[in-house]
Amino acid sequence: MILSTHAILGAAVASALPSHPVVAFVAGFASHFAIDAIPHWDYPLKSISLGLAARNDGRLTADRLRDFAVIGFDALAGLFLAIAIFGTEANWVAVVAGAVGGMLPDPLQFVHTLSPGEPLATLQRFHSWIHSKRKLTWPLGVSSQIAFASAVAGTAIVLQMAS
Ligand SMILES: [Zn+2]
Repeated sequence: MILSTHAILGAAVASALPSHPVVAFVAGFASHFAIDAIPHWDYPLKSISLGLAARNDGRLTADRLRDFAVIGFDALAGLFLAIAIFGTEANWVAVVAGAVGGMLPDPLQFVHTLSPGEPLATLQRFHSWIHSKRKLTWPLGVSSQIAFASAVAGTAIVLQMAS
């Protein structure tokens, strides 16, 4: 899944735990794996492999800067949408914690390739085990994630209004 989808789901989960930022973070982190199991589309990265791969290193090449720009934009858009949709004055710490927790497993995959020891090795095994092996192609992939994120946001807003 793209990071913004993870951020929105993490924030949705967190908005149910407005006064427990730590629990919201853990719940957001867990939500990452739940939706990675659904077949989805991921944007192609030119220089970064999410997994042990020779092409991962600490060098800054043009391709890597481009990848970091895409990832950074995705993450910032996710954070922005998460706060815009779910944030209130009372719950924003939990919402940010949930959104960051929801996105974190993916950057940890990159960290793992640079430093392949424990505990990240176990996390990496779990992550690639649960991650859907079916890849959706472009048009369906993007629209299905927008639809999914909107459904999550809509459900959470209705639940909030009802409570
Ligand atoms: Zn993932």
